[in-house]
Amino acid sequence: MKIGCPTEIKSQEFRVGMTPEAAQEAVAHGHDVLIQTGAGVGSGFADEDYSAAGARILPDAASVFAEAEMIVKVKEPQADERAMLRKGQVLFTYLHLAPDPDQTRELLASGVTAIAYETVTDTRGGLPLLAPMSEVAGRLAPQVGAWTLQKANGGSGVLLGGVPGVRPANVLVVGGGVVGTAAARVAVGMGANVTVLDRSVARLSYLDDVFMGRLTTQYATEGAITELLPGTDMVIGAVLVPGAAAPKLVSRAQLALMKPGSALVDVAIDQGGCFETSRATTHQDPIYEVDGIMHYCVANMPGAVARTSTRALGNATLPFVLALAGKGWRQALRDDAHLRAGLATHEGALTSGPVAQAQGLD
Ligand code: NAD
Repeated sequence: MKIGCPTEIKSQEFRVGMTPEAAQEAVAHGHDVLIQTGAGVGSGFADEDYSAAGARILPDAASVFAEAEMIVKVKEPQADERAMLRKGQVLFTYLHLAPDPDQTRELLASGVTAIAYETVTDTRGGLPLLAPMSEVAGRLAPQVGAWTLQKANGGSGVLLGGVPGVRPANVLVVGGGVVGTAAARVAVGMGANVTVLDRSVARLSYLDDVFMGRLTTQYATEGAITELLPGTDMVIGAVLVPGAAAPKLVSRAQLALMKPGSALVDVAIDQGGCFETSRATTHQDPIYEVDGIMHYCVANMPGAVARTSTRALGNATLPFVLALAGKGWRQALRDDAHLRAGLATHEGALTSGPVAQAQGLD
């Protein structure tokens, strides 16, 4: 199959859909891999790396979209890209269609067979193509939070790990899923005193087991948050209620309970944010202050570490890319119910129930 990988054109997106290693693997399976010139530069891959892997370098997006039978990307196709999609072509990428009626309409009009990374499932009920980015954002959260706490950035001037004779910072992680667990691991590693709250006792039990006393777990209630905020230097918001906007777990009034210069890192901002005072920010201007409390709310945190994120995403997508290219999309979806869960549109039909429901099309 001809697999095309264009340069990402969404603002501040530096990832790329295929690494040279993924391209090499696809070529070894007999596929023709078409890479737009410069597609990998933001992630540290030169055209020569792809050529050495056996891929063909094409001069622009138009030639990649025209020739490829399957397009492998990172972000949802932008309007210019949607105009180049066609019936009979497969699109494999993040789509996030539910809140995006324009994109939904244009994908349907194009006739493309679109498979969304974020709804592909696994045997444990997880989302294997979303999890790698949660791992990245979770690990980044204490790192950016520590930077936010620095005096020059408006923070309270507390060092996460403390020093001998000076207590470490208190970090509160709300939500102990993929993001929360990764954030807790890094915060513990940086020497902070970490508490994780979750509504799932099973999750707390898991965390208690794997961290063996190196953090504290507590059941998430409004009372627990109110009790903990006065002593907390950094709150990491990492909750997810699938298919819903994030619940607001810290109100504006509760900010007054915190020490001035404390930090809120709202990783759940891509779902609307879990603090009342959160609003999405960018890597260019990531933090702002409300009532003396510093907020970090970047909606695409993995983009800050594109080299790592591209590889992490590529590792997760490669087996699916090979299945789709090797068997054809119909057989690949027939053989794998988890991949089938990713099918969003096909020849003008909307095949995702949740998207139809979200847009009143069901
Ligand atoms: P997950 O499903 O693995 O974990 C979410 C956890 O939140 C679960 O353990 C759940 O029990 C818990 N939870 C739900 N409601 C709660 C509540 N009221 N109080 C306490 N805990 C509660 O999800 P995840 O992969 O860890 O993702 C977490 C969030 O991070 C999501 O909103 C996701 O979209 C977001 N995210 C953001 C970025 C970014 O760049 N900003 C990147 C990746 C993920």
